[in-house]
Amino acid sequence: MPVLRLAIPTPLRTLFDYLPPAGDSDVELLPGIRLRVPFGRREVTAYLIETVESSDVDPSALKNAIEILDSEPLLPSILLKLCDWAVNYYQHPPGEVYQATFPKALRAGKTHRCNSEPGWTLTTRGKGLPKGALARSPKQSKALGLIQEHSQLCNSHFRDAGISTSILKALEEKGLAEHIEVITAQKEPRANPGLKLNDEQALSLQLLLAQKEGFSCHLLEGVTGSGKTEVYLQLIADCLERGLQALVLIPEIGLTPQTLARFRDRFDAEIAVLHSGLSDGQRYTAWEAARSGTAHIVIGTRSAVFAALARPGLIVVDEEHDQSYKQQDGFRYSARDVAVKRGQLENCPVLLGSATPSLESLHNALQGRYVHHRLQQRAGGSQLPKLEAVDIRKAPLQSGFSQALLNALDTALANGQQALLFLNRRGYAPTLQCHDCGWVADCSECDARLTLHRRQRRMRCHHCGASKPLINCCPECRSEQLLSIGLGTERADEFLQGRFPRHPVYRVDSDSMQGKGTMQALVSQINQGEPCILLGTQMLTKGHHFPAVTLVGIVDMDGLLFSTDFRGEERSAQLITQVAGRAGRVETAGTVMLQTHHPDHPSLQAILCQDYHQQACAMLKARELAGQPPLGQLLILRTDCQDASCGEQFLRDLRNNSQSQLPAGVALIGPLPAPMQRRAGRFRSQLLVHTTQRRLSHLAARTLVAQAQRLPARKGLNWSLDVDPQDMF
Ligand code: ADP
Ligand code: ZN
Ligand code: ZN
Repeated sequence: MPVLRLAIPTPLRTLFDYLPPAGDSDVELLPGIRLRVPFGRREVTAYLIETVESSDVDPSALKNAIEILDSEPLLPSILLKLCDWAVNYYQHPPGEVYQATFPKALRAGKTHRCNSEPGWTLTTRGKGLPKGALARSPKQSKALGLIQEHSQLCNSHFRDAGISTSILKALEEKGLAEHIEVITAQKEPRANPGLKLNDEQALSLQLLLAQKEGFSCHLLEGVTGSGKTEVYLQLIADCLERGLQALVLIPEIGLTPQTLARFRDRFDAEIAVLHSGLSDGQRYTAWEAARSGTAHIVIGTRSAVFAALARPGLIVVDEEHDQSYKQQDGFRYSARDVAVKRGQLENCPVLLGSATPSLESLHNALQGRYVHHRLQQRAGGSQLPKLEAVDIRKAPLQSGFSQALLNALDTALANGQQALLFLNRRGYAPTLQCHDCGWVADCSECDARLTLHRRQRRMRCHHCGASKPLINCCPECRSEQLLSIGLGTERADEFLQGRFPRHPVYRVDSDSMQGKGTMQALVSQINQGEPCILLGTQMLTKGHHFPAVTLVGIVDMDGLLFSTDFRGEERSAQLITQVAGRAGRVETAGTVMLQTHHPDHPSLQAILCQDYHQQACAMLKARELAGQPPLGQLLILRTDCQDASCGEQFLRDLRNNSQSQLPAGVALIGPLPAPMQRRAGRFRSQLLVHTTQRRLSHLAARTLVAQAQRLPARKGLNWSLDVDPQDMF
C-alpha cells in the first residue's frame, strides 16, 4: 500500500504519514487532493503532498485516512510548487501554507463545486409537474423540488442535500429528470480602446509586450499620476486577447470602488475580486472563477497571490512598496516576493509598479535583474506639487497648526480650492496626563500609552485594542486637572471646524470611515470640487486622486523623521511622496507644506531637494555600507510569553545550540527585548539574524527552526520566524 505524505494545518513543521482510506477506491492519489483524516481526537482536512513507498513511522502505527475529498487536485501543480517553495523559504508549517490557498468551505472539507459539473435538470414532462408532486416518495419529491427551484443543479448540491444518485436515477426512469453538464457560461473578454499613450508609456508597453512570453520581471517606476495604471490596462488587454488570465495585486486599502470601476469600464470581461471584506460565499465564487478560468482578470489583495489560476499569463503588483503586502503574523509572507517567484514558476511576466518603489525592487532593477521602466511625467498634463518646509521652532501654534499653514489654508479656500492635511494619528490626543501629579494613562497590557478618543468618551490602546471609559479624575491623586497632550485627527478636526466654519472639514481615518461605502461617498463628494479641508491618516494616501486639491499640509513631519527602524527614512519618503501625489490640477501646481522643528534634518532635506528616485539611490548606498537589506538579509526570531524572562532564555538556548552549526557570514544579534517589550500582556523578545547572502540566510533559517523545534517546549511560550521582516517591532 502506498504511504500518503500529508500537509495538515498544525503549528508543526512537518508532513504526516497516513495510509489511504480502507476499502477499494479507484481515485488516483494525485498531489494536491484533499483528504479527511483522524488527527489526535479530531478529524481534519489534509492535503496530499506526495505518495511514497514506505514510511519512517512504524507501519502498524500508521492510520488510514477516512475519506478522499477530491477526485482530482483542485490546485494546479505549479501552485503546489509555489507552496512548497514558500514552506521552505519562510520555514512555515506546510499545512498552514497549503491551507492558505483554499477558501474556507474547502478548508473545512466541504465538497468542491465547480462552475462546470455534472448535474440534473427536468425533462419537459418533469417541468409539467406541480410543486410538491411525488409526495409518496419524500426523497424523490425533495429532489424534484430542488430542481424546480433551481432549474438545474450540480450533483454536489444533491449530495449535500442528502439525495443519492439512485433517487435521481429513479426520476430519470420516470422520464422526469435528465443528466446534464451544468456550466457557468464563459464569455469572450473584450477590451474597450485605451488612451493614446505618451512616449514614456508607449516605450514601457513596447518593452513589456516584447517579453510577454516566458518569465521576466519589470519594475515600472512612475511618478504619481504618470499613467502606470493605463500601462497595466493595455498590457492586460493583450494578455486577455491571447486567452490568458491576468492576476492584479493591490494594497489592502488601495482596492477602492474607483479602481474597480476603472477595470470594469475598460474590460467587458469577468473580473473576480478577492479581498478580506468578502463573505465566505463571495470569496468561494471568486476563487472558483479564478481556478476554473471563467474569470479573465483576478484582482485581489495580499492573499490573492495564492489564488489558483487556470491560464495565468501576467502578474501585476500595483504599489509594490506597500507594507500591506507583507503578512505580519502567522504565515509571514511577502505577496510581492511570492508574486515574483510565482511568475518564475508559471513562466509569465511580473510587473511591479510604484511611484515610490521599495529599495528591494529598486535594487533589483538597478542590478539588471528586473527590467527598469521609468515614467517621469504626469500623464494628464498636471504638474507635481512643490515641497516646502515650514520651520515651526518658536512659532506660535494653534492646536499644532502654524500661522503659515493656516494662512495658506485661508488662501486656498478663498480661491475655491481644496486642501489635504495629513496627520498619521487617530483619536483626540495620544496622551492623557494628570497636571497635579504627573500620572499618565498607560495601557495595562502594553508598554504604550492610551489614546484619548473624546467623542466616544473612551481611552483606547492602538496596539492591543484595549478600551476603557474616559475618567474624570486622576486615579492616583483624584485631581480633576487632566491634560490631553498631543494632537490626533479628532482634535485637529475639532480645531479646524472652529477655525474654518464656512467650509466643510472631512476627517478620514479608520474611526470615521467605518461602514461600507462611507469612503466612496466621501470621495465622490470631494470630487464635486467644492472648497473643503480633507484631514486624514494613511487612509488618505492610497488609491485616491483628488484633482481639486492644491494644498497639502504635513502637520507633524517630525513624527515621520524619527524612527528606530532602519526603514524609517524609506517609509517617510514614500509616505510624503504618495501624499503629495494625491494632489494636482492641470492649471495650478500644488504646494506641500511640511511643518517641522528640524528643517535641517538630512532626511527632510533629501525629501525637499531630491526626487524620490535620487533619495532612494542614496538610501541604497547607505544600506550597502551598513549591510542592511536589500544588501544583506535579515531574519528575526521572535518570542512572546506571559513570563518576562522565558523568551530571552529560550532565544539564548537557541543561540547557544545553533551557533556552532552556522557558517561564517551569519551574525546573531541578541536576544534583546523587542522595541515594544510588552504587548497585549505578553513579553516579547527577539533574536536578529544578519547574513550577507541569501543562501546563508536560508541556511540560517533552516538551522534555527530545526534547533528551536528541538528545544523543550516552555509553557505559554510562542516563537516564530520572520524572514525578510518589514518591521522590527
Ligand atoms: P498612475 O497609475 O501612475 O497613478 P494613472 O494611470 O491613474 O496614473 O493616470 C493618471 C491620470 O492620467 C488618470 O486620470 C488617467 O486617466 C490619465 N492618463 C493616463 N494616461 C494617459 C494618457 N496617455 N493620456 C491622457 N491621460 C492619461
Ligand atoms: Zn494625579
Ligand atoms: Zn495595549
